[in-house]
Amino acid sequence: MTQNTPMVEVRNARKSFGHLEVLKGIDFSVGKGQIFALIGPSGSGKSTLLRSINQLETLNEGEVWLDGERVNLDIQGMAYERHINHVRQQMGMVFQHFNLFPHLTVLENITLGPIKLKGMAKAEARELACDLLAKVGLADKVDVYPSRLSGGQKQRVAIARALAMKPKVMLFDEATSALDPELVDEVNAVMKQLAAEHMTMLIVTHEMRFADEVSDYVIFMDGGVVVEEGPPAQLFRNPRQERTRQFLRKHL
Ligand code: ADP
Ligand code: MG
Repeated sequence: MTQNTPMVEVRNARKSFGHLEVLKGIDFSVGKGQIFALIGPSGSGKSTLLRSINQLETLNEGEVWLDGERVNLDIQGMAYERHINHVRQQMGMVFQHFNLFPHLTVLENITLGPIKLKGMAKAEARELACDLLAKVGLADKVDVYPSRLSGGQKQRVAIARALAMKPKVMLFDEATSALDPELVDEVNAVMKQLAAEHMTMLIVTHEMRFADEVSDYVIFMDGGVVVEEGPPAQLFRNPRQERTRQFLRKHL
């Protein structure tokens, strides 16, 4: 692919649940190495959008592209399964609730994907996991079970687990909103480090200060549409839309 191919592109994304229209035609394009923050009130469709990018939800209309490859395809059966596994391996997703496997150690949580999905040798997977745990500041937790970890530590393991698949993009859905306030910074620090390493990231967050600090570009959604978008300096300090101003008055 050429240098200018976006890493993630969403075109006219539309999604309804029954009669409830949740995404009403969303368009944006994330360049390689860019950090996008996705903000907006509860219920505005942020999670549905991220989940639709990762194919945890199926759009009714529109297109999702990853690095020049169409993600949402109208295919079925085995071909669909193969395709989904292929695209999911390239997108790391981190949820509000860590979703670690409780019966597996930290090491096993991280190496499961590389071994099972990529056929990586155990020793190599272990080495990779140890490197990633060092990176997120948890080198000493290799053989511990998730129940022994704090929320912040669990979330850092979840990030390491996603990174172990060497994804092209990382999707974060309110990764810190279930954490006690004193544990938020240690997770944000890991995300900032990834940003400094030019990982492409789409970050849904309700922490406006963090979005301002970490992102290159901010998308403000309300009611299933993009109300306003722009660089953080503009969106946070010089918003053009009254709806954006109202939202920021409540959340800044
Ligand atoms: P946000 O993440 O911005 O809070 P969501 O994408 O979670 O918003 O939800 C947007 C709207 O879609 C909400 O009204 C929510 O109740 C609804 N919704 C989300 N998922 C489902 C679902 N699986 N079935 C029915 N309604 C849903
Ligand atoms: Mg949400």
